[in-house]
Amino acid sequence: MRKPIIAGNWKMYKTIPEAKELVKGLVTKLAGLDGVEVVFCPPFTALSTVKELLQGTGHGLGAQDLYWKEQGAFTGEVSPLMLKDVGCDYVIIGHSERREHFGETDQTVNQKAKAALAHGIKPIICVGESLAQREAGETSALIKGQTEKALAEIAPSELPKVVIAYEPIWAIGTGRSSTAKDANEVIGLIRKTIAGMYGHDLAEQVRIQYGGSVKPENVKEYMEQPEIDGALVGGASLEVESFFRIVNY
Ligand code: PGA
Repeated sequence: MRKPIIAGNWKMYKTIPEAKELVKGLVTKLAGLDGVEVVFCPPFTALSTVKELLQGTGHGLGAQDLYWKEQGAFTGEVSPLMLKDVGCDYVIIGHSERREHFGETDQTVNQKAKAALAHGIKPIICVGESLAQREAGETSALIKGQTEKALAEIAPSELPKVVIAYEPIWAIGTGRSSTAKDANEVIGLIRKTIAGMYGHDLAEQVRIQYGGSVKPENVKEYMEQPEIDGALVGGASLEVESFFRIVNY
């Protein structure tokens, strides 16, 4: 049985006072919640503050990116050692916004995923096709390739710590979500790809989220699909009420 995991990706939103308000509100409302793992992914600047507010709650802390070196002359970067130091349990890797605007490639995604695991941080690896790729019928081949390249050289013993987020790019922040059935199908393909690399039993242990315009109104449909183990939520994770309703689907 895979425990569902719902993560809030705050992107480049929330100052420290705003982060405090959001997390305090959610911690109160989510007290006693069972059966779903909740992860907060604030910007780097709010990680430490959010960590303090999450003490004793059982909720996880995630960063939105990392660099794969431990330290060095890499101005502007944040290392896995530093994320561990601040108390991160998770890190989002290869979000489509990073692939599009910051030159992230399948190779850097793989390097980052390996570095995170080497430091005991669980990667949430994002994969997803663009609208043009979907319309050209390239979704399956692309998703298979992204998954295989992201997981290259990751040891079988580490695999159960990996979370994959399937986020069709055309559904992110657009209000245009994938149908639950389509998302389930692509996520089934991701699991099949993992089974091809690691075998059926290990593939069954990997949690795979859907992301892209998840809202309180549609979250249940996704969560009811057999292959979907959670959600990566952007816009709707920025308010207490909407994220509460999503987590409480
Ligand atoms: P969205 O973003 O929920 O605002 O569509 C999802 C994501 O980018 O992770």
